[in-house]
Amino acid sequence: MRANELGAVPVLMYHQVLEKPKSAYDRTPKDLRAELERLAREGYVPVTAGDFETGRIDIPAGAHPVVLTFDDSTDSQFRLGADGEPTKNSAIGVLRAVAREHPDFKARATLFVNGDAFAATGQKKALTWLHKNGFEIGNHTLDHANLAQSGPAKARAQIAAGQRSIERDVPGARVRSLALPYGIRPEPADLALTGSASGTKYRNRGVYLVGANPAPSPYADDFDPVGIPRVRSAPAKGKDAKYSSEHWLDQLAAGKLARYTSDGDPNHISYPKDTAARPGKTAKKDQLRPY
Ligand SMILES: [Zn+2]
Repeated sequence: MRANELGAVPVLMYHQVLEKPKSAYDRTPKDLRAELERLAREGYVPVTAGDFETGRIDIPAGAHPVVLTFDDSTDSQFRLGADGEPTKNSAIGVLRAVAREHPDFKARATLFVNGDAFAATGQKKALTWLHKNGFEIGNHTLDHANLAQSGPAKARAQIAAGQRSIERDVPGARVRSLALPYGIRPEPADLALTGSASGTKYRNRGVYLVGANPAPSPYADDFDPVGIPRVRSAPAKGKDAKYSSEHWLDQLAAGKLARYTSDGDPNHISYPKDTAARPGKTAKKDQLRPY
């Protein structure tokens, strides 16, 4: 398998996981399981958004990274049962089951949360469990605010308050990833990366959008930490088929879009000389291994 660490990475976006989906953004537990099994079969290994955006992609040679992201911190994504384990049909329950059946496929994901996250379990208990079990907790603002609507001061306040709420409940958790509610950027856009409000400083390393295609490699020159595209988990059906995960996973599998394939060495960035992508400034010269 030819390594290409300048290839594209699918960052998949999930919302509710329900037996009866309420919108085109939701999936059933069965859909989710089928998609995760496909990813496992095709040699993908999940990494968190934080590891992706900072270029810490430590997966075996020949494997492809995938980033699983869950927005809005609903109980359908994560809920602890009476036995202290995630319920079977919650997104995290399904992910853990697939990872148990496919040992190369890791139970890793990023959950972009709002205030009062995972209410049925309770935010503190839920976030503590997730953090302890290797999941990344990302920020989705305190109140799921439209950051373009109310001016830069309120946008900063929403981001800072979201982070404060997570870090208050999970000592040791450092929030580094932000998903923009509705995918709407504040003005100016880079206030989503760094800023402060009411004594809380934030410094995000990756800011995630809602649409619509696989993301550039974090080592490629077209990687933009202020606007990392995500692909909606959905079947390739209807008018939005070309934005769906099924469509993009098909394109990546067919080689229509060059896919990130690991060389197995997190310290080197290997890529074929004739690939279209070029290394960006985050890639150090002595790490580059063109061949
Ligand atoms: Zn949202």
